[in-house]
This record gives sequence, structure tokens and C-alpha cells, in this order.
Amino acid sequence: TRRVPILALVDEGDTKQLVRAMELGVTDYIARPIDRNELVARAKSQIRNRRYARRLRSNMQKSMEMAMTDAVTGLYNRHFLSSHLDNLMSNENEKRRKVSLLMIDLDKFKLVNDTYGHVSGDEVLQEFARLITNDIRNIDLAARFGGEEFVVVMPETNLEYAHFVAERLRRSISDELFEISGSDAPIKVTASIGLAMAGEKNSTSSKLLVSADAALYQAKEAGRNRVCCQETE
Ligand code: GH3
Ligand code: MG
Ligand code: MG
Repeated sequence: TRRVPILALVDEGDTKQLVRAMELGVTDYIARPIDRNELVARAKSQIRNRRYARRLRSNMQKSMEMAMTDAVTGLYNRHFLSSHLDNLMSNENEKRRKVSLLMIDLDKFKLVNDTYGHVSGDEVLQEFARLITNDIRNIDLAARFGGEEFVVVMPETNLEYAHFVAERLRRSISDELFEISGSDAPIKVTASIGLAMAGEKNSTSSKLLVSADAALYQAKEAGRNRVCCQETE
């Protein structure tokens, strides 16, 4: 009701009343004695304006969401992740030393696409995004970092707890049966996860991302479907 248009009825010549109505925020007024046609015209015009403003607002909302999120998975996009992470890691932010970050990459995902088609691949990505979202807290942020790579940012989380979350997530992915349109039977998918925490070595968002990526690389090298942690300095 905050932006509902208000049409005030004032007595003709009563400027005091009119000024008061304006101060209270009426959007238009009409003077007594009321002319029926004028009332209808003014009311219609207020309703038209209101509808137009509402449409504008909802379009803007949609554009903002589109600028922040990834169309396939609905997760935040890389651009949004960067600014969120920069904020968290800025010197002014007291919490910056306790930020943990997971870099998650689907294993042999090219094979899924090659075997079942790109549409099925997208379905896997969507289900995958749902699993991540269900597994993290409200203060954590999940983003699609690239093709089949995802990032989870966890403020106020030490390495030990982050490792626990990563392992739980890894297991929930490997336990999941992915229903896809390209196959009658559901398929299994695994993911590798690299984990890093902000600190002396990872003092900026890009250093933190590089560390998590290096840990992810280790997880791949070690045979995939596992969690690897950056070596602590
Ligand atoms: P690895 O275990 O080493 O990560 O192997 P991989 O096959 O997952 O890695 P690779 O980088 O060789 O291939 C990634 C594949 O991800 C290639 C591409 O077909 C697929 N991919 C990337 N983005 C999308 C997408 O938006 N939709 C679909 N369906 N597939 C995607
Ligand atoms: Mg991959
Ligand atoms: Mg990849």
C-alpha cells in the first residue's frame, strides 16, 4: 500500500486543507462540488500512472536479477561473486580472516554431454545447483564460476568446518541419482572440491580463489570425487 495513489477531496477555495493534503502525500486532489467526469478522469489517470510505475519497477527488478544470476542454474554469477568476495575480504571487514571458499568442478562432465547431449548436461547442472543450495547456510553464497565449476563462499568458517561441509556436499552429489531427459535410467555424477581459507597467504579474493583452484587441481590429480585442502603455510 506504500505507493497507492491517493486522491484527496477538498472544499473549493480551502487552500489550508489542500496544503495539508499535499503535505500528507496525496498524489492528486479534486475540489467540491465534485464533477463526476472529472473524478473519473483523475482517478483513471492515477491508476494508469500507478500501473506504469509498477511495471517499471518489476522490469528493473528482473534486470537486476538477470545481471546478478546465471540463467541456467539460478545461482549467482561470477560477476556478483567477485564483488561479494571483494567486500568480504576488504581490510575494513573484521570477518575477512575467517572466510572459507570451495571450488567445485564436476568430474568428466564432457563425457555426460557427449553421451547424453547438452540438454541433459544442463539438467545435471541444474540439479547440481539445487544440491549445493540445499546444503549451505543462509550466510553462505553459491555461484556458478564457469561452465561446470561452482564456488561456495562461507564467511566465519574455519578450515575444519569447511572441510566437513565440502565432504558432506561431495557425498550428497555422489549419492544422488540424476534424472535426465537423455536417459531412461538416472545417472551418477561426481565432483571434485578444492578448499582454501583466507589468511596471511590468501589475503585477497583473487589469492583465495587461486588457492582453492590449486587445491581443486590436486583433487583431480589424486583421482577425482574427493576434497583437497590448500596446504597451510
Ligand atoms: P574433469 O574431470 O577434468 O573436470 O573433466 P571434464 O570433462 O569435466 O572437464 P573439461 O574441462 O574437459 O570439460 C568441461 C565440459 O563442461 C565441457 C563442456 O562440454 C561442459 N560444459 C561447460 N559448460 C556447460 C553448460 O553450460 N552446459 C553443458 N551442458 N555443458 C557444459
Ligand atoms: Mg570438470
Ligand atoms: Mg572445469
